[in-house]
Amino acid sequence: MTRASVATSLRLILFGPPGAGKGTQAQMLKEQLGVEHVSSGDLFRHHLSNGTELGELARGYMNRGALVPDEVTIEMVLDRVGSLPSGRGFMLDGFPRNTNQARALNDALLQQSQRIDRVVHISVPDDELIRRLSNRYICRKCQKPFTRNPASGEPPRNCDDCADGGDIYQRDDDTPDAVANRLTVYHEETAPVLDYYRDAGLLDNIPGDASVESVNRAVLDALGLTAEV
Ligand code: AMP
Repeated sequence: MTRASVATSLRLILFGPPGAGKGTQAQMLKEQLGVEHVSSGDLFRHHLSNGTELGELARGYMNRGALVPDEVTIEMVLDRVGSLPSGRGFMLDGFPRNTNQARALNDALLQQSQRIDRVVHISVPDDELIRRLSNRYICRKCQKPFTRNPASGEPPRNCDDCADGGDIYQRDDDTPDAVANRLTVYHEETAPVLDYYRDAGLLDNIPGDASVESVNRAVLDALGLTAEV
């Protein structure tokens, strides 16, 4: 098997607190490895902007930084994973967020004789996460993250990746109260999932308080795929 074919069939979890840079790394890895990016937060935001019943249900939980109940979240994510072309690898971002979700994912993959290959945990101290989230802006169309321009203090107006210049906005759950709640939920409910994957021998820890490029190199190294991919 070539390195490219190993990469395109990889089933990876990008794990970490909100603001760790999972979305940014996922965008890079998608291009480098050719795997699908499945972000539970993006799926919910898609439902929200389309005004679906699921979006309306999720809205209140999302705005206060709480987890959307497992009954709807697990089905939404597993349906998306199940709809990917067979044999195609994927990167999960934002899922699983508690051990119940991790077990449900494991069981669903086992039914297809599949398993998660690697879990990459990007860790960042809380004070840095708070700083990043309060400066974070997102393209409404493609979800690419942006920050304020250091000189003007202003966020960009349009997305440079979207042909028609997608509109840039600040997420409702990047407000100080919601951010504080998201970090509490992360430490109490999500961080214990790390033990589940550590016990399974799948976990790599990567310090995320570094440049985007060096985190990307560390992720590729952890996957045994050097930066040449
Ligand atoms: P994210 O974009 O990953 O920060 O997710 C935004 C919000 O969507 C979270 O704060 C939750 O309200 C909801 N959400 C995303 N993924 C999950 C998940 N795996 N379980 C429950 N809620 C989730």
